[in-house]
Amino acid sequence: MYNSVAPLRVDFKTVSRMSAPSLKDAFGREISYLRLSVTDRCDLRCAYCMAEDMKFLPKRDVLSLEELEFLAAAFIDRGVKKIRLTGGEPLVRRDIMSLINRLGARFEANELEELTITTNATQLERFAGDLFAAGVRRVNVSLDTLDDENFFRLTRRRQLGAVIRGIDAAQRAGLKVKINTVALKDTNQSEIPAMIEWAHGRDMTLTLIEVMPLGEIEQDRFDQYLPLSAVSDDLKSRWTLEPLEMKTGGPARYWRIIETGGVLGMITPLTNNFCAGCNRVRVTCTGEIYMCLGHGDKLDLRAALRGPNPTQTLNELLDVAMRRKPERHEFEISKPGAEPAVARHMSVTGG
Ligand code: SAM
Ligand code: SF4
Repeated sequence: MYNSVAPLRVDFKTVSRMSAPSLKDAFGREISYLRLSVTDRCDLRCAYCMAEDMKFLPKRDVLSLEELEFLAAAFIDRGVKKIRLTGGEPLVRRDIMSLINRLGARFEANELEELTITTNATQLERFAGDLFAAGVRRVNVSLDTLDDENFFRLTRRRQLGAVIRGIDAAQRAGLKVKINTVALKDTNQSEIPAMIEWAHGRDMTLTLIEVMPLGEIEQDRFDQYLPLSAVSDDLKSRWTLEPLEMKTGGPARYWRIIETGGVLGMITPLTNNFCAGCNRVRVTCTGEIYMCLGHGDKLDLRAALRGPNPTQTLNELLDVAMRRKPERHEFEISKPGAEPAVARHMSVTGG
């Protein structure tokens, strides 16, 4: 159990919180969105995300569920309105529903506008009903292919059936499902139009994402990278894409496809910088806050959490984080064989 190896020095329930100003960075951006990673572990091994022999963190380094809740509460006290749980795979963390239920209570109390989760959906069939009951209304499901063999090649696991059952269960439970698909040269490139038709046929928005150069993997990123400008040109030759004003608090831009009637999102960190409207920070499952997905700069919140006077120390660190949040990321995949722009894997900070 995580709790037994990471003794807490304070009883979080009895700590009185100071009211503190909302989080605003040096560029005047209000930070109202926290992406909180609850584990670095995963039951899949997506080739662009993890190496097959990925080394996971020792459990004592990972925040307990109580520590994660305390951290989330500190952000809520500073004006965060939206929390997305991510990982690794959040639904493989033992007892994850106890954290989700406690954060869900803050949604019910109107302290949070949204509690949501990014998942690979392998475990969603058994969690869908509980998630809805806890107050979760939307889930993002990451799915890059609808072909069994391609799924195995991409994730190194045979779990497509479980994923589809998970999506079915989520929709039955009343959860709004959004599909996120990483566009990968050659691997799923030819499947993209069929995936869009499938998603729209099930009343799901599908968002395409450019692969980002995060962490060393077996393959060269240059071989995976498919600019969405090229995908968009191909889609426009088949369908009519009407730009939408729609905003979901994230970096995606949206189009309606007239012929399918559904919505297509695109997240283009490489071909189109989206930093000006950034409203978020990320915290890893070890309590490191990353002010930007595309930078290595981070601050350790775990020491504050486990030290004396955690409320005050955390607040001071959040102020430092705001001063250090950079204006923009510096991703680039311009040539074969380049080092990753950022050494950590996406599974450290989550998507
Ligand atoms: N396991 C969960 C899942 O797959 O939805 C949550 C964590 S996963 C790291 C979050 C998202 O990051 C997924 O949509 C995944 O496709 C995306 N991702 C992982 N590595 C990426 C990379 N190098 N570039 C772009 N997206 C990446
Ligand atoms: Fe796991 Fe998500 Fe990374 Fe795939 S993208 S290996 S499902 S954490």
